[in-house]
Amino acid sequence: MSNAPSLALNGVHLEYPDGTGTINALDSVDLSVRPGQLAAIVGPSGSGKSSLLAVASTLIRPDSGSVGIGGVDVTRLSERARAALRREKLGIVFQQPNLLASLNAVEQLLISAQLRGESAKTARQRAIGLLDLVGLADCAGKRPHQLSGGQRQRVNIARALIGAPDVLLVDEPTAALDHERGAAIMRLLRKVTDEFQVAAVMVTHDIEFAALADSTAEMRDGRLTALAAA
Ligand code: ADP
Ligand code: MG
Repeated sequence: MSNAPSLALNGVHLEYPDGTGTINALDSVDLSVRPGQLAAIVGPSGSGKSSLLAVASTLIRPDSGSVGIGGVDVTRLSERARAALRREKLGIVFQQPNLLASLNAVEQLLISAQLRGESAKTARQRAIGLLDLVGLADCAGKRPHQLSGGQRQRVNIARALIGAPDVLLVDEPTAALDHERGAAIMRLLRKVTDEFQVAAVMVTHDIEFAALADSTAEMRDGRLTALAAA
């Protein structure tokens, strides 16, 4: 197991235009996450947490600073190279499980696997294995409307893992869930971080959930400050 960070943000600045001025969404943000490490980010609404994930996921290029994924500064890559890197190295779980209404759980995962050019048989076996791992062994044939909110979020997490990512980015996975289901999702994220040795970043509004993380940092007005380290 490598101990080099899989994800490393250094001095990241990001501004959004706002009327005649700008909003400082990220201000000198540093963050480093190693394989098997679960990093929690807490902080109030509007503080820049989702912006941090957007930059880490290569979806937004920061105005300055570097974003290293597997030792490569992705801010220097072309759009096409960043899209390839997202497919190969990143698993992204957005706040809303944006599942396709007409597909069952296993098919949601297969779409992502096929984008990566896997054979249908291998992909199906891995998809079923992942659904089992996230506690949905009995739900492979169910479509989103037949699943609970927590189950949909589990499909979302399994889908993010189908490409065997090095880095897993998760934005407020418990926002739409009650406390007990939210806690179960947090335990699942801890488990998949350990099992797949991903470098995981999880944004949560509930500081209590950060207890399962290896490190916690707080975002305020675009500035990230470490709260605790393992
Ligand atoms: P959080 O996820 O912590 O709620 P965000 O990263 O979504 O915070 O937002 C940080 C700040 O940037 C907020 O002031 C928000 O209004 C602003 N913001 C977010 N996205 C955009 C955008 N696409 N354009 C302009 N401002 C944005
Ligand atoms: Mg957000």
